[in-house]
Amino acid sequence: MMPASMTEATLAKRLLDGDRRALARAITLVENDRPEGWALVREVYPHTGRAEVVGFTGPPGVGKSTLIGALTKARREAGRTVGVLSIDPSSPFTHGALLGDRIRLTEHFLDQGVFIRSMANRGALGGLSEAALQAALLLDAAGRQDVFIETVGVGQAEIDIIDHADTIVLVLMPGSGDSIQALKAGVMEIPDVIVINKADHPLTDTMIREIRGVLSLANLERSPEEVKASWSVPIIRTEASRGAGIDELVKALGAHREHIVAGGQLAERRRRNLRGEVLAIATHRLRRRLEDDLERDVTFQALLDQVVERRLDPASAATALLERAAPQRGESIS
Ligand code: GDP
Repeated sequence: MMPASMTEATLAKRLLDGDRRALARAITLVENDRPEGWALVREVYPHTGRAEVVGFTGPPGVGKSTLIGALTKARREAGRTVGVLSIDPSSPFTHGALLGDRIRLTEHFLDQGVFIRSMANRGALGGLSEAALQAALLLDAAGRQDVFIETVGVGQAEIDIIDHADTIVLVLMPGSGDSIQALKAGVMEIPDVIVINKADHPLTDTMIREIRGVLSLANLERSPEEVKASWSVPIIRTEASRGAGIDELVKALGAHREHIVAGGQLAERRRRNLRGEVLAIATHRLRRRLEDDLERDVTFQALLDQVVERRLDPASAATALLERAAPQRGESIS
């Protein structure tokens, strides 16, 4: 067997050359939380930041996959390479499973310029969003010019995966009123672009009016300067299954990118997103470490006994737990 460092070097090189099999292998490594995966991301990270990352979110069944399929076709026709990451936290399927016809991207499977990967819930291992963010970086390093990230749900914890995107698209269909409620209630941040798919439905106009209402309410909370400088969220009608409205969506995505590049928000947004990513990884590791401590260390078991017996309150026990963890801060939390 080759030493790990050599295989990694080769894998990193192949990945940077855009080799699809290397990319698939690399994503499996990060998905399985393997140290080689982290080492690989560390090595190729300086080559990331070039991809245009667009995140799609919205309730199941609204047509996100179909829409991404149609968009992929349009981007391929424009000569761009595409990577698709489909994150389904509720899926019982294990890592690496291609979504097959579920993702409705079958026509792209043989195209070398398209890389599609789905990532599902990893149960006890947790950290799906962490793995997904690493996977997005790998797609970027492999030279995919457009990276589309698809996630299910509105106002769920998993939505933080979408925070990695430069542009966020909320996909709705006529009748998906819950999502409008989520927007209204501020559960979900205002997206950059809203797509109403299945727009042949008679309730489409009603829905668009409602959304306009929510957006203008959101504007009321801003200062006039903010409103003037800010992006006005386009509402695009599509019928993804027959490719209608896709050109408009491509244009809206392009316009949003121009807007955030020109105004400096892209750099700001990426900084904020990366800050979130660093914090998320650190939090995840710290939690795992504390859980291990609680589980294994007899001192903590005794501490917990005291809490159970009402001799020590939970907050004081937490302080003791953190004080014990603090001296080894950093080094061994991995
Ligand atoms: P996702 O769960 O949001 O990814 O939704 P899918 O892309 O899997 O689509 C759900 C269903 O809606 C599928 O049966 C699609 O064929 C169908 N669908 C997608 N776009 C349209 C559309 O524009 N009009 C209609 N009538 N059906 C569509």
